[in-house]
Amino acid sequence: MVTLDLHHVASPAVRDLLHLVNHPDFDRAQQQIEHLGGCTEPVRLTGRTTTLDTTTGEVLRSYTTSDEPTGNLLTTCGNRRASRCPACSRLYAADTYHLIRTFTTILRRAGLRRIRFHDLRHSTATLLLEQGVELVVIKELLGHAHIGVTATVYAHVRLRLQRDAIDSLGRALDHP
Ligand SMILES: [Zn+2]
Repeated sequence: MVTLDLHHVASPAVRDLLHLVNHPDFDRAQQQIEHLGGCTEPVRLTGRTTTLDTTTGEVLRSYTTSDEPTGNLLTTCGNRRASRCPACSRLYAADTYHLIRTFTTILRRAGLRRIRFHDLRHSTATLLLEQGVELVVIKELLGHAHIGVTATVYAHVRLRLQRDAIDSLGRALDHP
């Protein structure tokens, strides 16, 4: 391995890159980068895994990120926002296309009207609310970042719930 004098290189990113290119295990580093498929926000993983034979306890496979050229295993971020990672968002877009196509086919075969896939979330929230499930629980189930988002669904079903509540009161007063 040739030791490079990189003191004159001002950019830390370029220095890191030159260190990496000069690394004896550069092929492995290149393999990791190729595997990222252009992901701009790769996640750096560190740690170890060991696979044991459950009956004998023999170590079948052992892996540690310390053996990687950079000490990390790089993996794709999987972000679906094109503004964050164009490469990963393209993969997500392809998955979404197939999901929606399959969903549309299922609706057609079942003789149901066409709805957006996203509408299923709204239907789920509405049905849960009507069953008396608390807003906080629905927020967690649907993965809403803020309860305000869940509350907008509540606004849609509130009138019906109020009508049902008044109907219950009416029944109670009719048959005490
Ligand atoms: Zn990515």
